[in-house]
Amino acid sequence: MKKLLVSTLVLAASAAFAYPDKPVTIVVPFAAGGPTDKVARDLAVAMGQHMKQTVIVENVGGAGGTLGATKVAKAAPDGYTVLLHHIGMATSPGLYRNLPFKTLDDFEYLGMVNDVPMTLIGRPSLPANNYAELVKWLEANKGKINLANAGLGAASHLCGLLFQQSIKIDMTTVPYKGTGPAMTDLLGGQVDIMCDQTTNTTAQIAGGKVKAYAVTSAKPLTTPALASLPTLDSQGLKGFNVSIWHGMYAPKGTPAAVTAKLNEALRAAVKDADFIKKQEALGAVVVSDARLSPAEHKKFVAAEIDKWGPAIKAAGQYAD
Ligand code: ASP
Repeated sequence: MKKLLVSTLVLAASAAFAYPDKPVTIVVPFAAGGPTDKVARDLAVAMGQHMKQTVIVENVGGAGGTLGATKVAKAAPDGYTVLLHHIGMATSPGLYRNLPFKTLDDFEYLGMVNDVPMTLIGRPSLPANNYAELVKWLEANKGKINLANAGLGAASHLCGLLFQQSIKIDMTTVPYKGTGPAMTDLLGGQVDIMCDQTTNTTAQIAGGKVKAYAVTSAKPLTTPALASLPTLDSQGLKGFNVSIWHGMYAPKGTPAAVTAKLNEALRAAVKDADFIKKQEALGAVVVSDARLSPAEHKKFVAAEIDKWGPAIKAAGQYAD
């Protein structure tokens, strides 16, 4: 019996040591081509270089990111399936009555990646050319405005919700599996406006492909393509501040030796000069060393759950 236990432990230890000996999958809980997907694909390259292994991105979009998160919560805890998620990780416990996983209990926290501000943009054919004109247009078109988002709990949902509450105009929300496909429809004029992360909107704004009205962060951004875009705060919505973060998670029970390797690869990626350059060009800021710690990130997510829960309750937004 003792011998069996020892050899099992040796086997487990050597399996962890060999890790990763096959491709690792990062599940993105939103559709391909969107902002979370963009971060994941750059991260996959940088982590893959460090681990000397292929890192694949799998898009599992739907239900504001909860379908992809559920898939990872229930995946084999072997380090070959991990989740890259954003603030939705912390807002879904307040938004979904029957969330099929426990955010703080069903994952091994691997660390944080970046902070990403958002922008308020409109379809190219929208007659409003700046924020003041947008407000007039929204006032004149009450009851006919379509606001795209990536489902309940998505960053675009939270930002759009706060925007509607702030300007006191209700809009019809059009949910997508991610803001990648939402952007396609915005460009095609099927929806009117959207709040989305700069990792998706910077290129469209710089190329003049969409109408850009504001950044949603408290301060203007320094990224060249976005530096001239005023904040919502400076244009009348005092205190408006929405910024999104991304973190990485493995299924609960993933061996410590494996999560340590994943955290090491994440740290290496977040400090990789090429990754930093790509993130900065898209308005995102990689996190400091302290925030790369799994324990710090778990503490942060717990605080975010406490922060968003009451606000969500007050807004009366729920799904089963
Ligand atoms: N930007 C999306 C959101 O609203 C997610 C995505 O498609 O990456 O959360």
